Amino acid sequence: MSLEIPFDNAYARLPDQFYTKIAPTPVRDPKLFAFNTELAHELGLNATDLQSDDGVGFLAGNDLPEGADPLAQVYAGHQFGGWSPRLGDGRAILLGEVRDRNGTQFDLQLKGSGPTPYSRMGDGRAWLGPVIREYLMSEAMHALGLPTTRALAAVTTGEVVLREGPLPGAILTRVAKSHIRVGTFQYFAAQKDKEALVALVDFALERHDPSKDGALGLLDGVVERQAQLVAKWMGIGFVHGVMNTDNMTISGETIDYGPCAFIDTFHPMRVFSSIDQHGRYAFSRQPDVAMWNLAQLATSLLPLIDKVENAQASIDRFPGIFQRAWLDVYRQKIGLETAQDDDGDLINDLLTRMTNGHADFTNTFRALGTDSARDAFLDPNLFDEWDAKWRARMAKEGATPENRLERLHQTNPAVIARTHRIEEAIQAAVAGDRKQFETLQKALKTPFEHPFNAPELTHAPTDEEVVPQTFCGT
Ligand code: AMP
Ligand code: MG
Repeated sequence: MSLEIPFDNAYARLPDQFYTKIAPTPVRDPKLFAFNTELAHELGLNATDLQSDDGVGFLAGNDLPEGADPLAQVYAGHQFGGWSPRLGDGRAILLGEVRDRNGTQFDLQLKGSGPTPYSRMGDGRAWLGPVIREYLMSEAMHALGLPTTRALAAVTTGEVVLREGPLPGAILTRVAKSHIRVGTFQYFAAQKDKEALVALVDFALERHDPSKDGALGLLDGVVERQAQLVAKWMGIGFVHGVMNTDNMTISGETIDYGPCAFIDTFHPMRVFSSIDQHGRYAFSRQPDVAMWNLAQLATSLLPLIDKVENAQASIDRFPGIFQRAWLDVYRQKIGLETAQDDDGDLINDLLTRMTNGHADFTNTFRALGTDSARDAFLDPNLFDEWDAKWRARMAKEGATPENRLERLHQTNPAVIARTHRIEEAIQAAVAGDRKQFETLQKALKTPFEHPFNAPELTHAPTDEEVVPQTFCGT
């Protein structure tokens, strides 16, 4: 076929025990559902070719361009704290790596592309719902400035996938700095395969941390990136929902948009996932869970680290880095330009009042400095008391109210991917109507601008609209 993609096959050059080489299973009638032209350009890919029949055949896994060396990666992981010695790509296939315009390497992966030796009881497929959800959520996160895997395309397969009932099948093309997970290291550590661990450390360092050295250097880098990432999640009201060690990257990118959600009405213990019955991955537990996961990474790397104390010291940096990053994020969210010792108290006071006042997370921050912020609270007095303290603090800074408002609006988005809007877009798409997906997807590209053509996207859900739970829905 004519489509040319200059693949590298770096992961495919690692030893055999890292993967199973396997091609995607062809699908009956692939059709393009969504295509990310900007991302294609960033990756130096030909957007026109990719949207042609040949291109769609490729995005569906029917026709692979020359140079692809498809494989399913093996990994292990702790799922809700329980150990699974072998997981791996059960419904995803890595085609190879491409370089973006800056020379950075990215994986191209098809997700929903058919069974692999790691599929266990699964069918290796995805239905349109989770594909739309991942497309919207990951691109929303990117536009908000958070490190994340991205979505290049979504195609429908013309085949039916059986879940609660028959549903339209779909495939997502995922782009990531790499798909190496904490669980990838855990797999080889559990196999007591020291050679593989060394090879994986070298690979990951070259890809993500070329200036660092050895297993300890890698660990330091991952601790830093994950602390920064989770602080950003906390600042945008994001609940990942399945922070298993196989869903935590070495690159520091958010990965695996399953039952994740942006918080509407704020509560620190908010959980969305239908399977997270004990709130293990609740909003405010995310930093602790991240540290627990990093401790698993450290444990896996111990055979390559001379002293346990050094690994421990690396992990122990997490709370400090996280706390500083969190303060940075929230200082910006409330418009502070200078740092004072009691800023953390001021921020936490607002969050407590938001909890007690059933305030919408996004809209409260977006409205700071305007008269409407208090309207987000069940009892507006809760806000007014805080507002007075905040204004007193602000008076000690130089910025004019106009300046401050402008900066607040560059930090606090007007539009997030609200769960009820995503569900609406999915239901419409399944019924053959792409309009809501289009509207949402467009607005999410510029989340800091008010969407004048779709102002409803900025509204918190009404009681009738609330979607209380999300499902892994694989
Ligand atoms: P997740 O909860 O999405 O992180 O997936 C956990 C594991 O289950 C991974 O190894 C996935 O590849 C696998 N998996 C999830 N859904 C499917 C499916 N439909 N078919 C095969 N494997 C799956
Ligand atoms: Mg996963």
